[in-house]
Amino acid sequence: MKTREYTFFGGIHPRSYKELSNKYPIEEHLPKSQVIIPLQQHIGAPCTPLVKVNDYVKVGQKIGEANGFVSAPVHSSVSGKVVAIEDRPSSSGKLVKSIVIESDGEFNYDDNIKPNEDIDNLKPEEIRQIVRDAGIVGMGGAMFPTAVKLNPPPDKKIDIVILNGAECEPYLTADHRLMLEKPVDIVHGLLAIMKALGASKGYVGIEDNKQDAIKEIRKACKEYAGVEVAVLKTKYPQGSEKHIIKAITGREIPSGKLPADIGVVVDNVGTAFAIAEAIKFGKPLIERVVTVTGEGIMTPKNLRVKIGTPFRELIECCGGFKGIPGKVISGGPMMGIAQYSIDVPVIKGTSGILVLPEDRIALKDPKPCIKCARCVDACPMNLLPLFISAYSLKNDFNKCEEYHALDCIECGSCSYVCPSKRPLVESIRLAKREILRKRKK
Ligand code: SF4
Ligand code: SF4
Repeated sequence: MKTREYTFFGGIHPRSYKELSNKYPIEEHLPKSQVIIPLQQHIGAPCTPLVKVNDYVKVGQKIGEANGFVSAPVHSSVSGKVVAIEDRPSSSGKLVKSIVIESDGEFNYDDNIKPNEDIDNLKPEEIRQIVRDAGIVGMGGAMFPTAVKLNPPPDKKIDIVILNGAECEPYLTADHRLMLEKPVDIVHGLLAIMKALGASKGYVGIEDNKQDAIKEIRKACKEYAGVEVAVLKTKYPQGSEKHIIKAITGREIPSGKLPADIGVVVDNVGTAFAIAEAIKFGKPLIERVVTVTGEGIMTPKNLRVKIGTPFRELIECCGGFKGIPGKVISGGPMMGIAQYSIDVPVIKGTSGILVLPEDRIALKDPKPCIKCARCVDACPMNLLPLFISAYSLKNDFNKCEEYHALDCIECGSCSYVCPSKRPLVESIRLAKREILRKRKK
């Protein structure tokens, strides 16, 4: 029987490079000395520190209190002594107030870490509270507090939950390995999300280049009604929230609206796993799987690492750089953020550390636009990137707004296909910033 495959209009097919790391099982890496835990690892208000310098903290202890509804607490990922609370560089490129802890290497757990009831015996509001207390945020990179997603306004009825296992960015394999190695927990996480929202249908969306993961998750879904795998065509950016929803449900999010407005909630498979662990063990979000990969890394790996572990330590754990590193990126090559330092820590949204060698990033001078329209064909949001970019470069942001610049999801597909190497996504990103700044005023 041929399985139906879901997809969307536009997009691109970049080389995946997943073969560098997708065969390697997840290995645990424990931090050697210090962890740096930023007080803001989520969209929303930063946390307030609950500890002082010289305090002894334990694994899982809450060390930063969430401030406001859209926020998420942070917890210590090691046991040891707080040695500093100060601004530190983060992988977002900004300085963020962080709690620096010297690990004692013991990993003593906080006494408050206790298992909860089974999902069947938990009420929806109890699941929401567990998720909030555990500081769980979107682990695909968005870092939106998950408890907020599980608390939609009363007039928004959610009937479908989608777990995003597309992992469409080249190089990244952390979600793939997690689906292979923890399929039952991922499906338990999905069931918990569905119960918290009162949703009747759950999907795990997986691209068709991960047949082994499709098989494992299907097996795990088998005994539950209403949950199934949706096989997605391998295409970038299949994992974008808007496109995975459209591909699986046929529903479209109107411009300026959210998935909840059309009855859908999307969470990453890593987020579902974290929810399952929070319920089963009472464990807050203190670790995650990170793919350390790229042609500039000696031995690519998928590592389970404590939040706060510096990139430098993980690069060393993978044998160090291979040749001269050209670029270190937090995340994938399409939407990741280039790093100026490898002393930044892994945070809740760090899916990968990608090292590209010098010869892969030789910068080409942009040439004039030849009006070939390849960027238009590639844009999954049906935008006209060449015009938005041209107006942005002339500082005409009103025109950019007319051309719906705010609908751009910054997927980078237009830049990828442009034969003239125009700075499309960068200029459109600038236009979005300026439009939003004007609106705020
Ligand atoms: S305009 Fe935005 S959404 Fe469209 S391809 Fe470029 S980056 Fe992606
Ligand atoms: S792909 Fe590049 S050269 Fe072609 S129309 Fe778009 S901006 Fe111009």
